[in-house]
Amino acid sequence: MIDLSAYSHVVVFTGAGMSAESGVPTYRGHGGIWHRYNYEDYACEAAFRRDPQGVLDFHEIRRGHVLGCEPHAGHQHLTVLQRGHPSLSIVTQNIDGMHQRAGSRVAAELHGSLWRLRCPHHGLFEDAAAGAFQQRSCPQCGTVLRPDITWFGDQVDEAVFDRARALIDDCDLFVCIGTSAVVWPAAGLIPLHRSRRPWLLEINPEPSEVADGLDQAIRAPASTLADLLSID
Ligand code: NAD
Repeated sequence: MIDLSAYSHVVVFTGAGMSAESGVPTYRGHGGIWHRYNYEDYACEAAFRRDPQGVLDFHEIRRGHVLGCEPHAGHQHLTVLQRGHPSLSIVTQNIDGMHQRAGSRVAAELHGSLWRLRCPHHGLFEDAAAGAFQQRSCPQCGTVLRPDITWFGDQVDEAVFDRARALIDDCDLFVCIGTSAVVWPAAGLIPLHRSRRPWLLEINPEPSEVADGLDQAIRAPASTLADLLSID
């Protein structure tokens, strides 16, 4: 059991494996979504320009699927840890909003969210109620809204990335849960090569790409976090 109260700033960095046991498929594992759908048809800016309504339809299907999944005991335990620790920040690569549904605060969603849309002129619109979007066009200018998601070929939002990096630069414990660490630039946030580096812990049933450079690995699924991390 690792006692988080021994650390002053903790960053928990999560990837698709965090939500796998809730039933949200990872990209690479069995049942991964891109085995069934071609991302070039649904998850890139060119697809959205070609067929915005088709892309929105696809994202409504994904929202419906995620709404049918529930946060698991690991998501819930992170919320308990966050309530009990003065500085525990969650940085996620996930777009599914499962941490928030479990009651956690998320400091940075590196790849955006299924539950937001954006207008190029009027910014972001929260839209978290249902599978179907409440509106598909901007109420102010009528432009078709696009999901606020970092699609294939998109740049990661610089402000969000910088916020995540500042938290990671300041942490003394970095807990990496359920990421293969192959998606860049997110993987570059794992602070492997810093002179004053935090304790690097991975929780993942399989070794990630950066597993060799970590301080400690626990080969366990995310749902068992309550057996692994505590605040004494
Ligand atoms: P990935 O699919 O590349 O890798 C998943 C990782 O999770 C693997 O290392 C696997 O061993 C691990 N894993 C599987 N089951 C686990 C469990 N029960 N507990 C802990 N770990 C488990 O995922 P990635 O590294 O996050 O990169 C894929 C990208 O796809 C991310 O950037 C993310 O934005 C996006 N994505 C998000 C979701 C989501 O929002 N839930 C789902 C699929 C993909």
